[in-house]
Amino acid sequence: MTTSCPSSGPSSRDGADCVVLGRLIDFTGDPAESGGAAVRDLPGGALALKDGRVAWRGAAAELPADVGTAPQRDYGSCLVLPGFVDPHVHFPQYRIVAAGGRGLLDWLDRFAFPEEARYADGAHAAAAAEVFLDLLLAHGTTAALVFSTVHEEAADRLFAAAERRGMALAAGKTLMDRNAPAALRDDTETGLRASERLHARWHRRGRLRYAVSPRFAVTSGAAQLAAAGEFLKSHPGALMQTHLSETREEIDEVARLFPDCIDYTDVYDRAGLLGPRSLFAHGVHLSARERERLGEAGAAVVHCPTSNGFLGSGLFDIGPYAPAAGQAAPRLAVATDIGGGTSYSLPATLGSAYRTAQLRGRRLAPERAFYLATLGNAEALDMEDEIGRLEPGYYADLTVLDPCATPLLAAREALSETLADTLLALMILGDDRIVRASWAAGRQLHPKPG
Ligand SMILES: [Zn+2]
Repeated sequence: MTTSCPSSGPSSRDGADCVVLGRLIDFTGDPAESGGAAVRDLPGGALALKDGRVAWRGAAAELPADVGTAPQRDYGSCLVLPGFVDPHVHFPQYRIVAAGGRGLLDWLDRFAFPEEARYADGAHAAAAAEVFLDLLLAHGTTAALVFSTVHEEAADRLFAAAERRGMALAAGKTLMDRNAPAALRDDTETGLRASERLHARWHRRGRLRYAVSPRFAVTSGAAQLAAAGEFLKSHPGALMQTHLSETREEIDEVARLFPDCIDYTDVYDRAGLLGPRSLFAHGVHLSARERERLGEAGAAVVHCPTSNGFLGSGLFDIGPYAPAAGQAAPRLAVATDIGGGTSYSLPATLGSAYRTAQLRGRRLAPERAFYLATLGNAEALDMEDEIGRLEPGYYADLTVLDPCATPLLAAREALSETLADTLLALMILGDDRIVRASWAAGRQLHPKPG
């Protein structure tokens, strides 16, 4: 039995580098749209991996002869899922989790900004990137869209650390030209030039992508937002990430700063920031008009439930994001938002989304929740052709979950009758202890092979 597939060198002559065995769970679409047909559950399944990708999937009993003799990693009754995708997370906030502020703007001033100022030091950023990415992997996350700091070198260090691990990572240097400490401010021209250099160095290098990253409308003036919109238009394939409509206090501040705009979404719309590769974190207090406009543009709203609860931002309503005929709802994604968020675990984040939905009189089905954490989030990142499914040709990014990881989970699992029962228990009771292993591009990265 092996702990990892070879990452390089000649492939084994039998046609696969290795074979992963377990209960294969993945989704071919949103179960809210296509129902049970979108859910695939294959106990006794097998994945043959070759050159970092899935080469074959099926029942272990039907493994083709040419891969049957490859080294095997048998996870028994554990769930083998596509690696989790976190579409909104802040690398320089990796250790300020559970820092209590009075609300978003106070929390930024007292905790986030002082911590982010440390990333002017490249050595600090390099060390932090290692810890941050290892934390993602320890929680089953193998791909992410990440905010760095305003510092160009910090983003370089993050990209380099992700490249060494073979992870799919999109990230960007934060743009911020006002309402922040001087050490964290750029200006329209320098921010754009640094973004250009980072894009030239890292975009589409291996599995990496660049995301132009204005923090939000409070910390970027109209000229900087417009420059970011121009960047998005002139760099096909680049992503855009920002924050939108997180707290009432923030919305009031944006209305004061942009008195000519119809609403908060209109600020970004006028800057050309709405599009199919644009991700807007939070969207807690959006109006129907804003959601409609975001839906028309093909943009994603990224629900960050643990962050919203911790900072007291509000209760996101998933109701308008249930697909209905003739409606242009925005794409829905779900993220941790570390460090405003309180858990690196996507399953725990789904549990928080479930509780938030309950409080709004909605229901988030467990199968839909896990679809969102895998293929749904991959779709929001425009990576759905490469990650988010267990399918030949897709990258072998895998998360292995043990439904009996703790005595309580084992006792609960004994009562589970359906896949939904098992997934809900993992959402409500799970944390990093449920992650048996994380693989990226055909290599086991967590636990680190000894
Ligand atoms: Zn955030």
